[in-house]
Amino acid sequence: MAVKTTDVLLVGGGVMSATLGMMLQQLDPSLKITMIERLDHVAHESTDGWNNAGTGHAGYCELNYTPQNADGNVEIDRALSINAAFESSLQLWSYLVNKGFMPEPSKFINPVPHLSFVWGEENVSFLRQRHEKLSAHHLFEGMEYSEDPRTLAEWMPLVMAGRKADEPIAATRIAHGSDVDFGSLTRNMIEHLKQSDNFELKLSTSVVKLAQRENGVWKVRTKENFTKIVQTYDAKFVFLGAGGGALPLLQKSGIPEREGYGGFPVSGQWLVCTKPDVVKQHSSKVYGKAAIGAPPMSVPHLDTRIINGEPALLFGPFAGFTTKFLKKGSKWDLFGSVKGNNLAPMMSVGANNMDLTKYLISEVMQSQAERCESLREYFPEAKNEDWTLAKAGQRVQIIKKDGEGKGKLEFGTEMVASSDGSLAALLGASPGASTAVQAMVDVIERCFKEQLASSEWQAKMKEMIPSYGSDLIENAQLLRDVRDTTLKTLKLG
Ligand SMILES: Cc1cc2nc3c(=O)[nH]c(=O)nc-3n(C[C@H](O)[C@H](O)[C@H](O)COP(=O)(O)OP(=O)(O)OC[C@H]3O[C@@H](n4cnc5c(N)ncnc54)[C@H](O)[C@@H]3O)c2cc1C
Repeated sequence: MAVKTTDVLLVGGGVMSATLGMMLQQLDPSLKITMIERLDHVAHESTDGWNNAGTGHAGYCELNYTPQNADGNVEIDRALSINAAFESSLQLWSYLVNKGFMPEPSKFINPVPHLSFVWGEENVSFLRQRHEKLSAHHLFEGMEYSEDPRTLAEWMPLVMAGRKADEPIAATRIAHGSDVDFGSLTRNMIEHLKQSDNFELKLSTSVVKLAQRENGVWKVRTKENFTKIVQTYDAKFVFLGAGGGALPLLQKSGIPEREGYGGFPVSGQWLVCTKPDVVKQHSSKVYGKAAIGAPPMSVPHLDTRIINGEPALLFGPFAGFTTKFLKKGSKWDLFGSVKGNNLAPMMSVGANNMDLTKYLISEVMQSQAERCESLREYFPEAKNEDWTLAKAGQRVQIIKKDGEGKGKLEFGTEMVASSDGSLAALLGASPGASTAVQAMVDVIERCFKEQLASSEWQAKMKEMIPSYGSDLIENAQLLRDVRDTTLKTLKLG
């Protein structure tokens, strides 16, 4: 079969590839963009509504973004940068809505207040200090704090009903928090991309091989799942937005930057309640503190979810261990990813993270009754029979070589790009979809340097993301202006 040519080849049809495709199409509509997705639908892995928690991560409620250092000081830098990154997402989504490229915002984003809730003297004093520091910053303006059970009962009636009043409790609340259906967002972006003659979507097709030709162009081999038909693409730029599948493809690319990277898969499960009379009593996302030894992404939370317009409650996540890198992946994924260049880091992470291994085993061994016991810490009157267990998506945490050649386990997201900017991969899963826009801005800045220097691309970037090129952490007035617009446009105010 004749080799096809394309300017941009996006591997995977999740939120990352869709966001990059959308931004590049806006920046230069003449770019030929090809998206290859191994499943028969787009957005069916981590990006799908029920495969993630749908929290518009902005640092409002996630206590793991504001760790307490050895001196007892709460550090807020990570929460500030995640908040600013989420503001970029809100700006791009507003631009897409205003242009008429996306449906009514409630089809993919809904206002759901974000709360942090703690109990016990030590945790209350942590939350008080966290609130003092965050609310003094313009990004967190309007964050409320209360230790008063009556106020807390107004904010989160289900969490307070039947709770014993025998220890100090406290919560913070941001009213303009959000629940995002990243599946719907992504499907709508791809629907828009499909309207262009310069965009091709190939479903049920996997990228199986890639190598760089001497002229710098990437030769990418794809295989259709059912017909087994093989096709070669010559692509000027390749984005490995394959979620858990990005690491194996990065390894296949052979670029020197891949060396030392490994992956540690963590699966997840939720308790889900769709009973209308329970669901209507809770309308917020209430995040607590992670158990000792638990990985940061296991922070328990009781959430209002709105997926396909239907409200439901979710509690979790309950972590688990599998060797698959994708929910619909293979149990050989982890073993296949062990290579000479990452063997040492992977072994040392295995040996030095026994706490995490023990935690994951204990989570896997839990019965439904035990999971409901954990739920009752947040919703004391919850009835076991109202809740069912649902399987969440896979997260492949990054294992990276440290300075001594050993491995460290990271819980963030990282972009790895070739030195010539012709290939980029996105590894890791947190804060994830919420910061997809900032992550894809990083890809564009790194891999499309020349084009981005042009006045046309600069102007378009500013049109899509009005704060582009400025620092929302420093510029209070700009933040207030853009937030005012995005909250109105996306109906989150
Ligand atoms: C349990 C859980 C909770 C989460 N909660 C949140 C949250 O509350 N808020 C938030 O912002 N983020 C959250 N995330 C993270 C978020 O879901 C991910 O960061 C995001 O969806 C990743 O998008 P992606 O496009 O990189 O990957 P994916 O959505 O996984 O898409 C990758 C696609 O690539 C395809 N693919 C893989 N290999 C190949 C190949 N060889 N050829 C072709 N196609 C391939 C896959 O089929 C898949 O469709 C959560 C994740 C999990 C698992």
